[in-house]
Amino acid sequence: MAHGSNIVHPSGPDAPHAFDIIPLKPRNGTLDARCPVCHGYGEWNTEIDLVSFRCKRAVCPRCLGAGWVETGSDPISVPDIELSSEGHPQWVTNHVRREDVPEDDVAGGTLLAPDV
Ligand SMILES: [Zn+2]
Repeated sequence: MAHGSNIVHPSGPDAPHAFDIIPLKPRNGTLDARCPVCHGYGEWNTEIDLVSFRCKRAVCPRCLGAGWVETGSDPISVPDIELSSEGHPQWVTNHVRREDVPEDDVAGGTLLAPDV
């Protein structure tokens, strides 16, 4: 057989093979600790072929792929899109006060409903 395959589907970051061939993320900026969900990898395999190592991955919702999280009282930086004064959408970085974000929903800080 020229092209064997052995495809597995890790169910989450704690499943076997979830982090195969994914490098640990380097510490970025002032973030404090390895992410407790993805253990510093920022993403994990949702499907991987153990022969060819082709894979599909999920981005960690806790650290948004950074692999590191803020644990202290510093504001949390979250990427967002806003309209510029010229009316064009643009990437911005918002800072959310740590105490405004529940511990189990830190990434949810990116999803605050706009004031209307
Ligand atoms: Zn993570």
